Amino acid sequence: MFLLAAVSALPCGPALGAAPAQARLENIRYYSYPEYTRVVLDLSREIKIGEKVLKGGEGGRLFFDLKNCRFALNYPREKMNEIRIAAGNLQRIRIGRFQAQTIRVVFDFDRIGKYNRFYLTSPFRIVFDIYRQDEFVSHARRQGREGPPAAGTPGEGAPPDTAGGGTPSIARQLGLGVHRIVIDPGHGGKDPGTVNRALGLKEKDITLDIGKRLNAILNEHRDLEVILTRPRDEYVPLEERAAIANSNQGDLFISIHTNSAPRLGARGVESYFLNMTTDPRAMEVAAQENAMSTKSMADMRSILDQILRNSKISESRTFSQCLQASMVAHLKAKFDAIEDLGVKKAPFYVLLGAQMPSSLVEVSFLSHAAEARRLATPEYRQAVAAGLYLGIIRFIQGLGK
Ligand SMILES: [Zn+2]
Repeated sequence: MFLLAAVSALPCGPALGAAPAQARLENIRYYSYPEYTRVVLDLSREIKIGEKVLKGGEGGRLFFDLKNCRFALNYPREKMNEIRIAAGNLQRIRIGRFQAQTIRVVFDFDRIGKYNRFYLTSPFRIVFDIYRQDEFVSHARRQGREGPPAAGTPGEGAPPDTAGGGTPSIARQLGLGVHRIVIDPGHGGKDPGTVNRALGLKEKDITLDIGKRLNAILNEHRDLEVILTRPRDEYVPLEERAAIANSNQGDLFISIHTNSAPRLGARGVESYFLNMTTDPRAMEVAAQENAMSTKSMADMRSILDQILRNSKISESRTFSQCLQASMVAHLKAKFDAIEDLGVKKAPFYVLLGAQMPSSLVEVSFLSHAAEARRLATPEYRQAVAAGLYLGIIRFIQGLGK
């Protein structure tokens, strides 16, 4: 996570009297799923937009202007005029220079439905999540085939945490419900996450190492397949991580982080699932992990209202409980003074849109001197990975509460 001081130190605008630098549009990316399409505009600096919606006889359109903005030199040529999407209700995006200093962007719909627009920072992005109008229909259909269809087991649809009756082997259960596990080592590349300067430790290095260790343990199961959202020290935007899990049809999603708090005595292990919260400390952790302004965090409420109906909240809570219980038990058996901070809910953007049970784990505080020294050792990282592995197996076996 980012320290609050680092977030509040971000530049919030041009100096008084100085003309604002021209912004550059660097890319437009999109991700399509059964329930929604996510469109992301990458910009070189902050631009606020005021989009307008026109509901016409033929579908409708949404458009907005990027003022004082031009195309970056490396803007993809094939996206210069039109991006054909034809996924869900969004048919295409048109992009063009509207005036000398203005780029106009138009979304053409075959039927315009609900959408949310918000801003992400570092680097600055404008994100649209556009929902299908028939999201409930598609959701109902999806419920009937939980997890990917497994070879030789047609018709099996029980979620793993409600599997009852008898005690089938783990391998059999794995075959039925959970096959592909997506591990998300938090941060990476230009985003170091929390930094402990005294020990020269960066969150991004620790999360990658723990992720790789968990990958190695899981790979011993022939029935399991692991996907890392980043296998190396590289920058992957938050909004892309759940998209990687979705497009690879992951069955479980774990985002690994190290914690940080202004109170240096804060220590312990905690796990989160996606939901709104009134707990100020949980909100603070989410704001730091999201690298979002308080204003954007407020916007998250309406986004969550939309998407929570389609999220696997109860499965994600159970999954988080399994991870937390196993991690704490395993660490306590090997180390002293392991504090169990429990399972909490908070609006983490990295989990938003994940279509499988998902959890974000904060595996000790990098801001706590003793915990940071532990996080520096291979023994502790291995124990965290083993604890997470046991939690995954616990969830698959349906031992969650
Ligand atoms: Zn983090």
